[in-house]
Amino acid sequence: MRRHNLALVMNLIARSAPVSRVEVAERAGLTKATVSALVTELISAELVRDLGPAPGRAPGRPAGRLVLDPYGPVAMGLQFGADFAAAALLDLSGRPLARHVRRFDVAAVPAAEGARAARPVLRRLFEEATLAGRLVAGIGITVGGTVSPGPRGRPVVTWAPALRWRDVDVIGLVSAQLRELDLHGLDVRLAGEVACAALAEYQAGAAGDWLYLGGEDVIGLAPLNPDLTLAGDLGHVPVRRRGEPCPCGNRGCLDRYAGRAAMAAAAGLAGPGPSRLLGNEDAVTGLIRRGDPAAHRARDAAADALADALVPVRALLAPDTVVLGGRLGAFGEPLRRRVQDRLPGLVLRQAKLGADAALHGAAGSVIARVIADPLTWIDG
Ligand SMILES: [Zn+2]
Repeated sequence: MRRHNLALVMNLIARSAPVSRVEVAERAGLTKATVSALVTELISAELVRDLGPAPGRAPGRPAGRLVLDPYGPVAMGLQFGADFAAAALLDLSGRPLARHVRRFDVAAVPAAEGARAARPVLRRLFEEATLAGRLVAGIGITVGGTVSPGPRGRPVVTWAPALRWRDVDVIGLVSAQLRELDLHGLDVRLAGEVACAALAEYQAGAAGDWLYLGGEDVIGLAPLNPDLTLAGDLGHVPVRRRGEPCPCGNRGCLDRYAGRAAMAAAAGLAGPGPSRLLGNEDAVTGLIRRGDPAAHRARDAAADALADALVPVRALLAPDTVVLGGRLGAFGEPLRRRVQDRLPGLVLRQAKLGADAALHGAAGSVIARVIADPLTWIDG
């Protein structure tokens, strides 16, 4: 009962902060005394903070304003890309506090060595958290690829094409790096980059019977509802009969026309260039901005292939809205409009978040767990 009520109160504060104890009691259907006791417990665990009465409030009984504690525990996101390892620290409200990206050719080395590339990044962020006197509630790892339940009951990366990882126990590899840093007993979790980006977009306020379409290294779909874990590998939906062969074994997959490497090749580039997380603009976006005709054609061909891939998605799942994020979202209004014109009636809107969406969502998965079950954090 205490576990359930703590979670209920924590959830209400997370969703409606700043909020008073009276409002929480009304919404939770609990007595004011019960809510006050639960809030006291959450405050002493540094999960919730009372900001005091609102400034300029009329005299009378002061109503405290409860928020998630901005000085409480922090969550870490860790992302591996073909050419980087990146980590970010977020507070309980999802506000980014620190970020560090290390350029490293992860795709050129075995997975264990790639995971080792993350050690300096992890060390630096743990040092920053320690200096700020913050506890790290856990680490959410993300990669562009498919994640499935593994043999030890924990998720593994089944296939991450840009990293050349197949059946990699990333949680095990990162946990080994944490042990090297003398960090033990942390909550370490793993999810694909599109599911993480969708969670970040949801935590930033997008919700409804909506789908998120995004990804940097992959093209995927995920519901904008964290209770649904469906994640569609849209990049490998065939859109061209007798089209280009794909490493997945099929032909004419969307990824062959709208994927990062494919679009770069269609625009006449030797390779896809550095990742957006390293602070660069996508190479094809840069060419488009400079008016390059081949890059414009590559973008339009990608938009047409994307529209073709969305036709069956719409028929099967009937979403109200599709939120376009990640690398394809960064092509902006011209791409969005071209896809939209092919799918009248479906609302296609731009995502709020940029290249760090998946990194933030990976940390967000740790925050979501603390909010859903504060007692585990308090007792841990
Ligand atoms: Zn494919």
